[in-house]
Amino acid sequence: MNNSTKQNKQNSNLDKIVSLCKRRGFIFQSSEIYGGLGSIWDYGPLGSQLKRNIKESWWKKMVLERKDVVGIDSSILMNTNIWKASGHLENFTDPLVECQECNQRWREDQLNNKSCPDCAGNLSESRLFNLMFKTHIGPVENSSTPIYLRPETAQGIFVNFNNVISTTRKKLPFGIAQIGKAFRNEITTGNFIFRTREFEMMEMEYFVYPDEDETWHKYWINECLEWYKSIGVNSKKLKVRQHDAKEMAHYSKATSDIEYKFPWGWGEITGIANRTDFDLKSHSNASGENLSIFDDKTNKHLTPFVIEPSTGIDRTIMTLLFESYTEEESINAKGKSETRVFLNFTPEIAPVKIAVLPLSRNESLLPLSNKVHDLLLKSKIIDGSIDFDDSQSIGRRYRRQDEIGTPICVTVDFESLNDGSVTIRDRNTMLQNRVKIDNLELSILKQLNNNTQ
Ligand SMILES: [Zn+2]
Repeated sequence: MNNSTKQNKQNSNLDKIVSLCKRRGFIFQSSEIYGGLGSIWDYGPLGSQLKRNIKESWWKKMVLERKDVVGIDSSILMNTNIWKASGHLENFTDPLVECQECNQRWREDQLNNKSCPDCAGNLSESRLFNLMFKTHIGPVENSSTPIYLRPETAQGIFVNFNNVISTTRKKLPFGIAQIGKAFRNEITTGNFIFRTREFEMMEMEYFVYPDEDETWHKYWINECLEWYKSIGVNSKKLKVRQHDAKEMAHYSKATSDIEYKFPWGWGEITGIANRTDFDLKSHSNASGENLSIFDDKTNKHLTPFVIEPSTGIDRTIMTLLFESYTEEESINAKGKSETRVFLNFTPEIAPVKIAVLPLSRNESLLPLSNKVHDLLLKSKIIDGSIDFDDSQSIGRRYRRQDEIGTPICVTVDFESLNDGSVTIRDRNTMLQNRVKIDNLELSILKQLNNNTQ
């Protein structure tokens, strides 16, 4: 393949995924009926379930399965003094230049020459532009100080440090995790949900003894890589890249990104930063509240260092869409070659785990089909979303379930009425297996577990 056909194929994969996401109900443009809103997206019925499954998988690994991490859910709007102390008011900026002709603004660090990329007009001197969204509290806009939508969830953790310590009695090392929305008024957006202005993050602040920071930094890079593998990301498409000094955030001593190989190149999906004691010390100084921990070993108060793994959920979804999108040539029932599309989600992540499909809409199949659906809905050993679909031809329904990544379809046919058996179809191999309804739950469980390995 030469470079330009390769490029076309890559772009067309992005186009195909965007189109599949809209057609099947994963992701819609925000405010679409009013023409949309720049780089903001809505998650539909399948997308919101996918997102929920990803968050639950992360929370399980990072919080529930550990003794040393607790969770928190802090507010999006916070006292403006927090952003002063954290350095975001002063430092969370991009250098922008404005075109004198067409008034468009550009990021100076991303321009190749000194004129407007659109109209070649002259550009102004650069000015620092803060990426935080501004709003205000109360009915009178002018009399209040502006407040900001949080650009990261981390500060809600730092300012609750003493509250969490005094209620949980945690000792070093320990972590506080949080999942929530954050907002950045990005100038350069794009590539679908890769860079958006409203997004959701899964963050943890892991507090450690200052002299153990580098060991824990490596540890959390590895834990994050392991989590990506567990949700089905090919480790060959992941790499760790260390930031050099000039791209590091103002609070950071060292940052490593986990990057995924997207069709347009490597892109950051998780950042693991060593934020040192910068935040706790800044907030101690600015608030007058002593944010430190009593160390039993030395009988002294100390300010811990903090390692922060921070993962964008929308970017994880983007990664999983590219990772799982599969096209396969197959021969259909009429002997014709056709392209089959499926999303190769792991059972844990798949928005629909099982679909129950009556072979046809014939009324005689309905009672047993409903019974099978109820059996799975109420199952104590199978969880997750169980779909029921009797809308079109069975071929089209299989095609739909493949496209949304459903690992298993259960088909009820006329034979089922006599022999009490149904067919289990595997998404990837399309192999079909006849099983007794009495053994259905265990058979499905076995097949789902096989798929995980
Ligand atoms: Zn211009």
